[in-house]
Amino acid sequence: MGWQTTNAAVEDAVYDALIVGGGITGLTTAVLLQKAGKKCILAEGKNLGYGTTGGTTAHINTFFDASYKDIEKDFGEEAAKLIAAAGMETLSMIKNLIDTYSIDCDFEYKDAYLYAENDREVKDLTEILASSRKAGINAVEIRENKVPVPFELSVLYTEQGQFHPLKYIYQLAAVFVKAGGIILENTFIRKTEFKDGVHLAESDRVTLKAFNLVYATHLPPGINLVDFRCAPYRSYVLAIKLKNEDYPDALVYDMQEPYHYFRTHEINGEKYLLLGGEDHKTGHDDPEKAFENLISYAKKYYHVASIAYQWSAQFYVSADGLPYIGLLPGGDDQVYIATGYNGNGMTFGSLAGKMISDQILGITNPYAELLNPSRIKPIAGFEEFVSENADVAYHFIADRLSASAIESFQEVMPGTGQIVKYKDEKLAIYKDMDGVVTALNPVCTHAKCIVNFNPVEKSWDCPCHGGRYSISGEVLTGPPRKNLHRIPISDL
Ligand SMILES: Cc1cc2nc3c(=O)[nH]c(=O)nc-3n(C[C@H](O)[C@H](O)[C@H](O)COP(=O)(O)OP(=O)(O)OC[C@H]3O[C@@H](n4cnc5c(N)ncnc54)[C@H](O)[C@@H]3O)c2cc1C
Repeated sequence: MGWQTTNAAVEDAVYDALIVGGGITGLTTAVLLQKAGKKCILAEGKNLGYGTTGGTTAHINTFFDASYKDIEKDFGEEAAKLIAAAGMETLSMIKNLIDTYSIDCDFEYKDAYLYAENDREVKDLTEILASSRKAGINAVEIRENKVPVPFELSVLYTEQGQFHPLKYIYQLAAVFVKAGGIILENTFIRKTEFKDGVHLAESDRVTLKAFNLVYATHLPPGINLVDFRCAPYRSYVLAIKLKNEDYPDALVYDMQEPYHYFRTHEINGEKYLLLGGEDHKTGHDDPEKAFENLISYAKKYYHVASIAYQWSAQFYVSADGLPYIGLLPGGDDQVYIATGYNGNGMTFGSLAGKMISDQILGITNPYAELLNPSRIKPIAGFEEFVSENADVAYHFIADRLSASAIESFQEVMPGTGQIVKYKDEKLAIYKDMDGVVTALNPVCTHAKCIVNFNPVEKSWDCPCHGGRYSISGEVLTGPPRKNLHRIPISDL
């Protein structure tokens, strides 16, 4: 896109805010702050939209994966009303940004349908409907669900949205740059230090200085409280061409575990059915199976002509269901984070942009207390908190003990990766189709868990906090800031 990539002068300035991460959270924050008169710089490790925003399905909702029923139960009626208000205000803010800056991003208001397929789901959905309405959300029971899946109860949520996420953030980036903001792509922040009220942030190319540091990167780097309160999930998407015109003109969700969701997107006059789901914790389960399941699910209900595209991306689920947006608990001064959006990051990422910019601008934000990352909820999410951390502890220990011993790299199949024990050393081995072997230390540089091979994306994925690395060891996603250590084959 031609964003500025080098500029020695940026090292001299002290910015009001350094925003790390070029997804919807980072760019919304950047635009709102820069437009309010602050001097901002945004550093993105790869390219804008490289992270989850480039792999999202971009439903923009005012109802969330944490249902109003659960929010009401865990946080109270007032909190459910606040989240509903936050969702509605955020959708209006997105529409307002689109209108104000003439952002051409295929935005459309859509009806959304949430449907139940069995008695247990009907009971749950009936309660969700009541809580949604109590929270102030426009929802009604309806006798259709817009997809060819049989249902027992369906609920219509009106005035939801969809757009093209990359068109949206690229144009936000253009607005930011036109307002004087600076974007540095290929600038991965590896190290930060807080000295005399200023954050110094080092990348391989530049060191940046700023009074406020915003991590729009899901989990912030380092080990901190939010690592223990968020779990990383991979989620899978198909873009399907149908043999007929059965494309749903709506956003649709089932209530299975893991759930499926549908919508239609039109690109250059061609319609695609977007079908998502089959989520699982990163580094657990089988990504190949997840795609197979999704394809069979599509074929069960639709006349599939072809799978035009398929991809997966990562989101973070918070222990109590609500996102963490605000000051980093126990961090240096003026460090902000935004994570735990679950599958609702279009709304919550945009909300985070508004909340963090308000905090930096000294404006009281009505949602700051409820979503404060330092909140302690002893009941809400406590079971999830315990089980997620038991899972992390299990992987930390069990994965250290398990690895198949090999005598020679001949035993590794071409095109695959494997954790092996070779000459008493534990290694992450990848062998390419030409037989060239890459050996890495398999210990994740974040919290020292052992990575697993992901055969679909050809990556090494950490089952603890979602750090992901390329087959050559470079950080792709997640909280680690250091690459996996590469071990020359000649040293083995
Ligand atoms: C398959 C899938 C479908 C989804 N569908 C929906 C949906 O329909 N509706 C919805 O609301 N939400 C959805 N979500 C969730 C939503 O897409 C995400 O929550 C949202 O995109 C997160 O945006 P972000 O800007 O916070 O993070 P990202 O878009 O991931 O951006 C973070 C950026 O930070 C960069 N970065 C990380 N570390 C560093 C560093 N140290 N230095 C510099 N840069 C760094 C990364 O390269 C990345 O580009 C979906 C998620 C998935 C996985």
